[in-house]
Amino acid sequence: MPTSTPTNTPPASPLTVARWCAAQGWPVHPLTPGSKLPAANCAICTTRSHTATNCPCRGAGRWCHGFLAATTDPAVIDAWWALDPAFGVGIACGPAGLVVIDVDAHQQAVPERDRLLPGISIPDTVDLTGLANGFHTLALLAALRGQPDPSHDSGTLRVRTPSGGTHIWYRAHPHLPIRSSSGSGKTRALAWQVDVRAQGGYIIAPGTTTTAGTYTPIGQTRTPAPLPTWLAAELLRTHHTDPPAPATAAPQGPPPRARQAIAAAGGRSPAHSMLAGLLDDVAACSTAAEGTGFSEKLNRAAFTAGGLVAGGYLTEDQAEDLLRQAAATARPHQHRRSETIIRAGLAAGTRSPLHPRGRA
Ligand SMILES: [Zn+2]
Ligand SMILES: [Zn+2]
Repeated sequence: MPTSTPTNTPPASPLTVARWCAAQGWPVHPLTPGSKLPAANCAICTTRSHTATNCPCRGAGRWCHGFLAATTDPAVIDAWWALDPAFGVGIACGPAGLVVIDVDAHQQAVPERDRLLPGISIPDTVDLTGLANGFHTLALLAALRGQPDPSHDSGTLRVRTPSGGTHIWYRAHPHLPIRSSSGSGKTRALAWQVDVRAQGGYIIAPGTTTTAGTYTPIGQTRTPAPLPTWLAAELLRTHHTDPPAPATAAPQGPPPRARQAIAAAGGRSPAHSMLAGLLDDVAACSTAAEGTGFSEKLNRAAFTAGGLVAGGYLTEDQAEDLLRQAAATARPHQHRRSETIIRAGLAAGTRSPLHPRGRA
């Protein structure tokens, strides 16, 4: 949105919205007028089976292949919206560096308790009466983590959707690429009725109108805030950073080294053994370039290490050293990305002090 438009003035034209988005550094692509879907491919791209990578249309300034065609080039944008000023505006989230939490309020049968927050068993003491949509599952996740509900985060751009949902916009960390997911996805999902629009996806720009209504910013904030650390940790936990699993199984890992490192740091308690096992899992990822769940394992180790720091079993320096060693063993060329995961995991973990039984 170019400005915080009062509700009684006409909304900005799609071209104005597209140019404003591009000025934020967010590549845009046209949507079929009145629809949430990308504008149709050209006749050749519609009928010919091929990938976007070797399609001549993209280099020729056509909008074929949806968000893969998105651009920040003002001349291309002007030309596209001159052809149809009623085109809606889509934004390619990955190249825009955006992670948008897409909260739905669809009328749907509520699934089993263990499918509301994948990977989390909701304590029986939590009364789920009245839980009906993504606003409730996201609020529940935030409450379980002791964090504020992102739906009420007035410090970032939020957009009301015509179907009663909310898009919560955040800036991705440059070294932690997040992948898109659907709340009902099998391989990665954050919460029931909560989708994640990031790499491999697009989001509808605020100010766009479909036949269902207009995507309207909430409040005054028009700038996405950085993705909160705790949400980054949750996206790591739920596989939003993992590349697709390779077809072949990874070979066995190298002999464990983390136990020796922990012993050298002076640790021998059950707490340290628990961390050593997690660090071994991280280091063992060195045998395959991808598909090993490295990010998730490093995050889990960092989260646990943070809990042990908070519990007084390790100093923060010791925890960082151990995590860096394990990460560098597995991924020597991903230093900055590993640092990001370590910091996010440690920060999230220090809020939950760990006290494993059998402390010596
Ligand atoms: Zn094509
Ligand atoms: Zn084409």
